[in-house]
Amino acid sequence: MTYETIPSLTRLSQDEVLFRDSVYEFADREIRPYVREMDEHARIPPRLIENLFGLGVMGIEVPEAYGGAGASFFHSVLAVETLSQVDPSIGVLVDVQNTLVINAFNRWGNDAQNAAYLPKLASDTVGAYALSESGSGSDAFALTTRATERGDRFVLNGRKLWITNGSEAGIFIVFANVNPDAGYRGITAFIVERGFDGFVVGKKEDKLGIRASSTCELLFEECVVPRANVLGEVGKGYKVAIETLNEGRIGIGAQMVGLAQGALDAAVHYTRERKQFGKAIADFQGVQFQIARAATEVEAARLMVYNAARRRDAGEPFLKEAAMCKLFASEVAERVSSLAVNLYGGYGFVKDYPVEKFFRDAKIGQIYEGTSNLQLQTIAKQVLG
Ligand SMILES: Cc1cc2nc3c(=O)[nH]c(=O)nc-3n(C[C@H](O)[C@H](O)[C@H](O)COP(=O)(O)OP(=O)(O)OC[C@H]3O[C@@H](n4cnc5c(N)ncnc54)[C@H](O)[C@@H]3O)c2cc1C
Repeated sequence: MTYETIPSLTRLSQDEVLFRDSVYEFADREIRPYVREMDEHARIPPRLIENLFGLGVMGIEVPEAYGGAGASFFHSVLAVETLSQVDPSIGVLVDVQNTLVINAFNRWGNDAQNAAYLPKLASDTVGAYALSESGSGSDAFALTTRATERGDRFVLNGRKLWITNGSEAGIFIVFANVNPDAGYRGITAFIVERGFDGFVVGKKEDKLGIRASSTCELLFEECVVPRANVLGEVGKGYKVAIETLNEGRIGIGAQMVGLAQGALDAAVHYTRERKQFGKAIADFQGVQFQIARAATEVEAARLMVYNAARRRDAGEPFLKEAAMCKLFASEVAERVSSLAVNLYGGYGFVKDYPVEKFFRDAKIGQIYEGTSNLQLQTIAKQVLG
């Protein structure tokens, strides 16, 4: 009798190893030296963004015919994880570009839209994904941005809040309601270019963590959008949102795994170097056990993220796994980065060392792309029926 053996979840193909290693080398060389400065100034230098395009991580799933890498969702997850090990702000820039914006085009864009926008997204244009508003976060479909049909155009009026990549983006996927009486069945996704009349990027938030990643308000005042820029169907924007966010949250899981790994690596390095009572603090069993537990948690979170991503690429259901991996990975990121601060002692509390930033950056994982309570709600529905 022969038995089929399934390789381990964390086993990477040769191509995935090469990809991950090239992203890590880039992050180490071109991001690490600037992490503190970017955090302090709350800004990603344009040069670095250009280099991310050059590296190929801004168009991972864009088909080769449109100038992208034509790679898998799993590659996007690997890129986000690896970049977040060094800087979770860069991780989320790349995450939104790939798992939300490009993903939405791949799934819902027609030939003309894909031909017009995917080459730009793969080569030089950052994308953003605008669903949330001041009054609608968890209850996303209560959004009030209005789209009014006028001939072959729609006119958008309203405000979006908390939009990642708002400062840098040239292409925005914007959700607005064409028929509030129809409730969520009026929600429609639009492709909005930065230069469209009546569209302005407003205030940038001053944040606790992922400070280099821009988070902006978007203002629409009689913003004219051609009908040809409806992504998917009129009134089906809720589907665009649900389906992209289901996948996107695996990317946030990956961001949190990378962050936790970065904090753990720093803690391992520091505890081997730091001496108290005449020996390295890593020689104390109390410290060893804390590190062992943290390493176990990071491994578990990574297995969950990889499993969800591989299920997605295999066309298997992944809704529950995506919610679970984001929920768990964001909790692990908070615990492990907190431990790293503790293990650095006083040095963990100051900006000269990387761990206080990881601790601040971790918090967002439990908030965006569905708070932890909303992930629990999704998981409960799947478990309880
Ligand atoms: C840095 C940052 C970047 C972001 N980027 C983007 C982006 O690019 N695009 C975008 O569209 N949005 C973005 N967001 C918005 C983000 O997705 C929302 O903040 C998030 O969904 C939560 O919505 P809210 O802030 O309105 O909180 P609320 O929905 O008001 O939630 C407040 C609290 O109530 C709890 N709660 C709400 N409803 C329930 C319920 N039914 N059961 C139990 N508990 C509940 C929540 O879990 C939370 O603890 C970003 C936010 C931040 C902070």
